[in-house]
Amino acid sequence: MTSAPDRVEGDRDPLVVLSHVQKHFGELHVLKDVDLVVGRGEVLVVIGPSGSGKSTLCRTINRLEGIDEGRITIDGEDLPAEGKALARLRADVGMVFQSFNLFAHMTVLQNVTLGPTRVRGASRADAERRAMELLERVGVGPQARKYPAQLSGGQQQRVAIARALAMDPKIMLFDEPTSALDPEMINEVLDVMTDLASSGMTMVVVTHEMGFARRAADRVVFMADGEIVEQADPETFFTAPSSRRAQDFLSKLL
Ligand code: ADP
Ligand code: MG
Repeated sequence: MTSAPDRVEGDRDPLVVLSHVQKHFGELHVLKDVDLVVGRGEVLVVIGPSGSGKSTLCRTINRLEGIDEGRITIDGEDLPAEGKALARLRADVGMVFQSFNLFAHMTVLQNVTLGPTRVRGASRADAERRAMELLERVGVGPQARKYPAQLSGGQQQRVAIARALAMDPKIMLFDEPTSALDPEMINEVLDVMTDLASSGMTMVVVTHEMGFARRAADRVVFMADGEIVEQADPETFFTAPSSRRAQDFLSKLL
């Protein structure tokens, strides 16, 4: 599922490219000359201390935050500043946040069909068929007619993933998707993400779940103080981090 016709499993041509990205909040320099390439089909896990700019980095990729300098392209196209082109681009970038952000007054099924019918122009019947497939895939098919408040946090987060996938995004961004969950629900969400990763979806995942990073990441990006300090495959990063800051960060997790 979710595969664009041109997807080649394991292909690594660049899908998202950030070059020399600078971002300030007032006096605060939050992204310092960030260069990053996310390959098609790649799973990138972003880790780093709180306040290092991980969320801001994610938010610049779908332009929830503008940037001060530099350039961001998705599939070779510059991020549009506003208007229809921006809406189209946002539909290509699925985002799952720490808080589930489902529409409380809509059923699970309505939450998942809203985007495809409104933005993608899908018929209701097609959108519902596809939504049910996705809800079953993430294990919440039986909850389709319920409202978000009737679901557990883990179920709501899986609905949020299904909702993002329903738009057939080119890339999925996850910003600490399990941080607000009770511990017993974390794995059910990570399992869905692990399946998605093996299906070939391009993913950028900000997480503190190091088990997931080891298991699912093609590459780990370590951020500190608005900079990408180090990037490596997970094995190298976790066993032999090269920077002092990454060594310190990892030693505090143990
Ligand atoms: P992380 O996700 O790694 O914890 P963030 O990207 O959320 O880091 O934040 C990076 C820095 O930018 C922090 O110092 C944070 O307080 C600040 N920051 C984030 N969003 C805003 C905002 N909208 N306005 C002002 N400062 C912000
Ligand atoms: Mg954050």
